[in-house]
Amino acid sequence: MEKIGIVIKVMGLYYTVLWNGEKFNCNLRGRIRKKSDNSNFSNPVAVGDNVRFEVEADGSGIINEVLPRKNVFSRKEKGKYRKEDIIASNLDLVIVIQSFKKPRLNLRFVDRVLVRGVKEGIDVVLCINKLDLADAEQIPYVREYYRGAGIKIHMVSALKGINLDALEREMKDRVSILIGYSGVGKTSILNRLFPELNLKVSTVSSKTGKGRHATSNVQMIVRNAMAIVDTPGLREFGLLDIETHMLEEYFPEFRQSSPECEYKPCTHDHEPNCAVKRDVDEGIISEGRYISYLNILYSLKEYYESMY
Ligand code: GDP
Ligand code: ZN
Repeated sequence: MEKIGIVIKVMGLYYTVLWNGEKFNCNLRGRIRKKSDNSNFSNPVAVGDNVRFEVEADGSGIINEVLPRKNVFSRKEKGKYRKEDIIASNLDLVIVIQSFKKPRLNLRFVDRVLVRGVKEGIDVVLCINKLDLADAEQIPYVREYYRGAGIKIHMVSALKGINLDALEREMKDRVSILIGYSGVGKTSILNRLFPELNLKVSTVSSKTGKGRHATSNVQMIVRNAMAIVDTPGLREFGLLDIETHMLEEYFPEFRQSSPECEYKPCTHDHEPNCAVKRDVDEGIISEGRYISYLNILYSLKEYYESMY
């Protein structure tokens, strides 16, 4: 008899499917693998997928079908012919995790994840851990940087147990994915929220997150009306499929100004009489976000140029 379950873990060609509180180790029906050869994605099945599967006599399962996804959170590594890797699907919330120190803040990374999330129609919140290590000026700096950007910010300390309840409320009744590179404290945060998991906390220098495959080592933790997708330390997010003049869509704080630009469309780069640049100069738009925008714009241009 067929059942519909949710994929909570991917290990190479094996998938763990959760159904009615029970876990099944599943394989893929060959035709699904074949079908995925002509898709835009490198992996046929991802964590978060709803799948139709059958249980065999020995208790293992076979996945017959992946049900339509409402969204995917994916990434693409550099390289012309590379496909997108789906990290997880069917998400309600992306939580980008950073730390104030060790490793230091990298808001450019946050901005790239933010673009991805907004593009897929998934809410994004920023969680900055290690509040206990923050310099006094870092807190207003971050608030100022994201002024008008419409991103919710949680400043927490997993070590000291500060502000974690607000983060937990954010995740209630939703499927969330945690994104951040190694060392920011993802595991420590999960251990605070779910002490019974007893996950292993690393030392900062012992792992770099490099050289791991993005789609493996991803797993979903289902607990107390929350489903949380934990990812290995991801560093790179190629940004694709955004036309340069559409990039501003993902920077809501530019919206007030851009109708006043002389050129239409305007990429707010070298065009004369650009209202966004004017408002950056006047301190109305955060300069940091504008620089981040230009960074992404240039990488998109570089990407499109490399295609021809
Ligand atoms: P992950 O790689 O993102 O899973 O990070 P871990 O949870 O393994 O934590 C990396 C290091 O940061 C460990 O040495 C933790 O003890 C430390 N750490 C985690 N949270 C905090 C915090 O709030 N404050 C401080 N000072 N250190 C923390
Ligand atoms: Zn402009």
